[in-house]
Amino acid sequence: MKQMLIDADIKRLMQMIEGSSRIVLTCHVRPDGDALGSSMGMAWLLKSLGKDARVIVPDQPPKTLSFMPGFKDLAIFTRHDPYCQRLVSEAELIICCDFNKPSRQDQLEPLIQNATCTKVLIDHHEDPDYFADLTFSYPEMSSTCELVFRIIAAMGLYPELSHDAAECILTGIITDTRNFTVNVNELDLYEILMRLLEKGVDKNRIVKLALNTCSLSSLKIQAYAISECMEVVEKHRCAIITLNQETLKHFHYEKGDTEGLVNEPLKVRSIISSFFLREDPEFIRISARSEEDFPVSKVCEDLFGGGGHLQAAGGEFYGTLEECKAKLIAALPNYDKYLPDNNG
Ligand code: MN
Repeated sequence: MKQMLIDADIKRLMQMIEGSSRIVLTCHVRPDGDALGSSMGMAWLLKSLGKDARVIVPDQPPKTLSFMPGFKDLAIFTRHDPYCQRLVSEAELIICCDFNKPSRQDQLEPLIQNATCTKVLIDHHEDPDYFADLTFSYPEMSSTCELVFRIIAAMGLYPELSHDAAECILTGIITDTRNFTVNVNELDLYEILMRLLEKGVDKNRIVKLALNTCSLSSLKIQAYAISECMEVVEKHRCAIITLNQETLKHFHYEKGDTEGLVNEPLKVRSIISSFFLREDPEFIRISARSEEDFPVSKVCEDLFGGGGHLQAAGGEFYGTLEECKAKLIAALPNYDKYLPDNNG
């Protein structure tokens, strides 16, 4: 496996871990498979080393990920505030996983940022804030879980990696790469897969539970959204799905029910970018996905104060759903130059 990490960073991390017995791991709000997999995978490894390792998540993770080992032991900030306060105040080391800016932790941000103990950031998003004492930032990696595996291997701790740790790490790799179909930038990701399988992890089970499982309400809401609430702007090869509060209520929307919806329009060959605008109570939440090199991260940054990865990004809009959609459609011509065949 290619060594992509800096020896001195690995050495410092090992010293930090050796010098701490209470360690808190944490991730971004609305945690996904990679956020949970990286923090829980690292926590399992630290437990194997005899550390008291706890994972704090900003808010309730989706039930679809409840198969992940350690899920029921998560400290959820919005539900267990005093408990989380105590864990942080007692922590000697905080390891932040899968986010680049403190604000990605939402209500949990002040607690983590005001903590005075040593902090480490492990992440694969572009342009991180250097708020931690030690930062592992590798945007070229498929997932933070890939990075966590490489860090563990570089520390010589692969033998300590338990079945549970391996299952968490593989879950994040599978969700961020949609089962090795996107964001696979290094061939040795397959070597990492092999070494995780050697720990006895059942890959097909993870793919089924993490990617191909949803509730009946989710199935219905997504089918309705595609059939009734999608506009295809053919000229700009763009699909826009909008869901308002009324529709969400009608389908008894629960958190996580629209997970993956934004990817669906990209199954159509002519569609290069897909935007999903959902009317949440506080604002319009935008998720975007694309094919080829169409930079939805740039679109979200320019229009919706957001960002993300080239092909997967998001943002927020304060105003009505209609205004949000109109703003997007009006701006689409500015991005035609990124469409395939239009590259001059
Ligand atoms: Mn990720």
